[in-house]
Amino acid sequence: MNVPMIDLHAQYESIKHEIDSAIAQTLEQTSFIGGPEVAQFEKDFKAIVGPGRVVACANGTDSMEMLLKALNIGPGDEVIVPAHTWISTSEVVMTAGATPVFADVDFDTCCIDVDDVKRKITANTKAIIGVHLYGHPADLTALKQLCEAHNLYLIEDCAQAHGSRYNAQLVGSFGTASSFSFYPGKNLGCYGDGGAVYTEDEALAKIVKQLGNHGQLTKHDHRLHGRNSRLDSLQARVLSVKLPHLQHWLKLKNEHAAHYHEGLKDIEEITLPKLVGDNIYHSWHLYVIKTKARDGLKKYLEEQDVHCGIHYPKALPFQSCYADFNLKPTDFPVAARLQDEVLSLPMYAELRKEQLDHVINSIYNYFKG
Ligand SMILES: *Cc1c(COP(=O)(O)O)cnc(C)c1O
Repeated sequence: MNVPMIDLHAQYESIKHEIDSAIAQTLEQTSFIGGPEVAQFEKDFKAIVGPGRVVACANGTDSMEMLLKALNIGPGDEVIVPAHTWISTSEVVMTAGATPVFADVDFDTCCIDVDDVKRKITANTKAIIGVHLYGHPADLTALKQLCEAHNLYLIEDCAQAHGSRYNAQLVGSFGTASSFSFYPGKNLGCYGDGGAVYTEDEALAKIVKQLGNHGQLTKHDHRLHGRNSRLDSLQARVLSVKLPHLQHWLKLKNEHAAHYHEGLKDIEEITLPKLVGDNIYHSWHLYVIKTKARDGLKKYLEEQDVHCGIHYPKALPFQSCYADFNLKPTDFPVAARLQDEVLSLPMYAELRKEQLDHVINSIYNYFKG
């Protein structure tokens, strides 16, 4: 039985009629950039963040880049980011001309370790980017307190966490501003690239909107040094079709996570993702186990037609592009361990019970067979 890591085709099949007609309408109207579809999606998307402003843009990297620029973060400034995340989080700090300062992560949640963040704050620190990695919210209470105490911006990287909640409140609505990606494999993905900024600061939203549209708010009036970073109408329509299904998909993913947990909890050789308490709603972008036998297990699972991923095999401080920073594995003991132990099991809403059981049985056989 084949079990892919993610099956975008299964999702498409389940909403084919809605998607096909939305795409056909876009083609009929031949209006591809801007227009009411984008404004509609920006309005719709607020339902899964908060009452502020959503500004759609070309992708989830641009959204953070533009945010940093809008917050005037640049040369001489430091931004604290987790050592274990997708590279966009630190890349955008480099693009801004500022310096990314890595903090280690917490072994249980894989999110930024607030105690290490405290040690990394200097007079030059301007912001902290908290990533809700795999869909698990970062420690928002502690991060917020820290940012308030030191007068720092809190930016939430929600690329993996559409619909996650912390203390019953949707992530993305805690910080100064937040960033979302609609890359196809994310919890809410379009059929190309897409992204958005969310903020309750109206003035900030306006600057981001301007930056992404050549510095103009009205045509041919270029007030800022901007760029081209827009969500196109086709992607906006696809996202508006998918959005009403999101809660159902997240519910299914939570059921799958519970099923994995039940089936795998007796295997001592693996550490399961933290079972979430009452104050957290996980959106399970990824279901990530940890094991010292990672590489052997992954290879065995491939042979059983179970396809897993590794998020991520090399922590950011150890990437060659940061060689000048001279950072050592002993500086980030948890990130250094996670890169060798994490394994992302298949996780998507349309997974069938037989598929889940095949994954569970295969893991069982590897360790106990
Ligand atoms: C996917 C992702 C991004 C960037 O999104 P793109 O739309 O691919 O640019 C940023 N941060 C994290 C944590 C991500 O997973």
